[in-house]
Amino acid sequence: MSIEIISTGNEIMAGLTLDTNFNWAASLLTSKGITVGYHTSVSDNKDHLISSFKIASKRAKAVIVTGGLGPTEDDLSSISASEFLSSELVFNQQVHNSICEKLKSRGREPNENHKKQAMFPEAAETIENKVGTAWGFKFEVDGTWFYFLPGVPREFKPMFTEMVLPELESALDKNEATSSKMLKTFGLGESEVARRLSGLKLDGVDLGYRLKFPEVHLRLVTSGNSEPEVEKKFHSSIDLISGELGEYLFSTDEKTLEEATAELLLKKKITIATAESCTGGLLASRLTDIPGSSAYFLRGVITYSNEAKVEMLRVSEKDLGKYGAVSSQVVEQMAEEVRKLSGSDIGIGISGIAGPGGGTPAKPVGTVYIGFSHKDKGVFSKKYNFQGLRFEIKTISSSAAIDLVRKFCLNDV
Ligand code: AMP
Ligand code: MG
Repeated sequence: MSIEIISTGNEIMAGLTLDTNFNWAASLLTSKGITVGYHTSVSDNKDHLISSFKIASKRAKAVIVTGGLGPTEDDLSSISASEFLSSELVFNQQVHNSICEKLKSRGREPNENHKKQAMFPEAAETIENKVGTAWGFKFEVDGTWFYFLPGVPREFKPMFTEMVLPELESALDKNEATSSKMLKTFGLGESEVARRLSGLKLDGVDLGYRLKFPEVHLRLVTSGNSEPEVEKKFHSSIDLISGELGEYLFSTDEKTLEEATAELLLKKKITIATAESCTGGLLASRLTDIPGSSAYFLRGVITYSNEAKVEMLRVSEKDLGKYGAVSSQVVEQMAEEVRKLSGSDIGIGISGIAGPGGGTPAKPVGTVYIGFSHKDKGVFSKKYNFQGLRFEIKTISSSAAIDLVRKFCLNDV
């Protein structure tokens, strides 16, 4: 069964809105083993919309249309669907009542435009919008199902998951279960990951690579006669892959690097504090993106200037002069002192040259030092030579620091 997704809107065609609904729905459908065969983007123009519906009806078993259900003049999905179907737009009193109630509960008055949102092609069935006022609708034409959903992602997503996906899944041929899994690695380049995995015989499992800076992700796809059979194939493939990649593999279940690390910190009751220079707080921000982070994250300071490093972290002025702010001596002192100040188990210090200026032959842009201090195990630091734009160096530096913590936790028994 092939699916087509039609994203509508002038803002999409003008490149102003990123088509995240497509991205999200396509990856969800793919993970359920449902193939998206076509993706069309079309402007807010009735003729263009109708022609896209006609084309889709000939080549897809199900069509998902997103956008164009708003109250304003430029929202044309319902009228276009009505002409495409040759089914008149009719006013739905029940839906209108529900829209009015929703608006009133938010202290807003319904206006004439909201009546438009209660008009649907007579032959269509409505799809409730529990979040906003743009209800969706669905109908069948010559064996193709059309689903019209709003463009606002907060509304599109729950309607898609609750009302559309189950129908698509049950319409699928259940004899064959297809599924995919995402594996995530950090610390190896794409070609090195591929080299390590090149000899593996993965039984009926397709392996695809994707660079998701600064990580390398692997997508496994397989099918079988039943879900347990598919799970078994994944299991044995993941065992083989994990044997080759070891600690570089940090997630087999969609976890982010910080989530995987937070899980270990929580499990082992390890606390952490950070002292950042070139990452400007990004490390602390990522470590506190996880709900419940107060159980492991005690404090973070951004000591950007040399004075701040001296005043707040008692970094030696002599060392700053002799080795420079981007040096193992300085990041080790930063890590030690922030750990002592906060009473945490681990202290991290980061200093580097994010660029584009400030590099020297001895310390080019991308030179980053990360210091790691542990209350019982002493202090060490690592030097990295990253490459890329300023934000990329900041991102990969924070990832490298998080990964150091993760690996420490893995090996700390
Ligand atoms: P619409 O329902 O077409 O009036 O869209 C309302 C708003 O939803 C737009 O202004 C965008 O901000 C957002 N939106 C529309 N289509 C998409 C899409 N395909 N992906 C992400 N956001 C969208
Ligand atoms: Mg619109």
